[in-house]
Amino acid sequence: MDMPTTNTRWIIISPSVYVDIINERKVMLYDTQAQTYMISESQKMVGLVQRLYEPANMGALPYSEDAICNDADITQAFNRGIFFLKDISDGGRPINLLPYINLQTDLDCTNDEKEERLRTMGNKMRFLSGVHIYLNCKLRDSQQHTMVAFRNRSHRQHPVPPYYLTNVRLSHQALAITLNQLKVSSTAVVNIIVSLDKNEQAYFSDVLDTLSLYNFKYVFNCYDEDIKCLSELLLAKGFTGDYSITSYIDRYSRTDNLNAICASLQDQGLPVVFKKIVADESDFVDETDGIDMLPVWTGNNETFLRRYVLMTQEDIDNSRLTMEDLFRHMKLNASSFGVMEILPTGSIYALNAKVPLGNIYIDDLYHIVEKELRENTSWRITRKETDCDECAYRTICPPVSAFETLYKTAPKCLIKR
Ligand code: SF4
Repeated sequence: MDMPTTNTRWIIISPSVYVDIINERKVMLYDTQAQTYMISESQKMVGLVQRLYEPANMGALPYSEDAICNDADITQAFNRGIFFLKDISDGGRPINLLPYINLQTDLDCTNDEKEERLRTMGNKMRFLSGVHIYLNCKLRDSQQHTMVAFRNRSHRQHPVPPYYLTNVRLSHQALAITLNQLKVSSTAVVNIIVSLDKNEQAYFSDVLDTLSLYNFKYVFNCYDEDIKCLSELLLAKGFTGDYSITSYIDRYSRTDNLNAICASLQDQGLPVVFKKIVADESDFVDETDGIDMLPVWTGNNETFLRRYVLMTQEDIDNSRLTMEDLFRHMKLNASSFGVMEILPTGSIYALNAKVPLGNIYIDDLYHIVEKELRENTSWRITRKETDCDECAYRTICPPVSAFETLYKTAPKCLIKR
């Protein structure tokens, strides 16, 4: 511990700076006030930051010329206000309140401690804040192999129904059980993903009866070819719940004149938005101007993703992050945390996870949430759990995306450090 009592001059690290030491070899310092960062691979700098962050030093070290001289990165950190000097006349030490994340309920610990921490976390259902319920599927047609392949890639990257060989539906009982269990969670909005192919209307009509018994807000998600049928059923049933509709279009959609359709549905009081799933430039057509574009990884459209989607150095340099954002990036995946997906088969996945956690026909959501907290299939997958682990930008970059977690081969960025 560096703590002589006679010191009057101290080296201080600013408490508005987030520190990430990467494998003890480099350090990323993000100044949350200036919203700028610096990266250093200077071993003198890394050593200085490590010592400043030792609990006994609490962000303040006795000044010594030797600790800070002859290092361009340390000089730069002083010039940028990341470090500064402070004189204390009475020989005491400065109080520097460094930001520390509260790790009392951190689950990244040994298995024994994890069980103990899980026990002390209380009601785990409070962590469940959303659910995507895929009610049913579309039927595969051997003639439409390309479309089915494209749409099955889109499924789960975005909330659109899958294509299966045989018809599979979530039973009304399973739906009711799910909604009952959600009542004790933090979930306010339930995403319902539905196909209204022939013969599915009666099933969905009964689903609406079940949904109307609960007080959630619903977002109905369907492909554009089903929007007419969906809206007619909602109107015919007089479905009065709090809901909105998102209709997805893609290169296989058959809907013309989207703006007119959207206006007509809104005239009837149906809150509808259209979104377009895009995989390359040919999907940018005039008629879809102004519609949200949702990129999809098809397995062979890296050039497109590189041009329009993936992070660039400029994106990272322009990031505007708070201390909370950085702590969040360090500990959990803000894109998936708290959300479960239930497929027509009843399989339950944490949002964007590859491995199922159980099945709604035999498991209850409480134990599923607990299992996710224990096994971490997606909610707490940060960039440290991926091959970004050694990159200095691992806490600056946005959370690991759906296409990165679902498809390990998907590209992730234009930079790698
Ligand atoms: S390698 Fe990962 S952390 Fe680094 S810039 Fe790319 S996406 Fe971000």
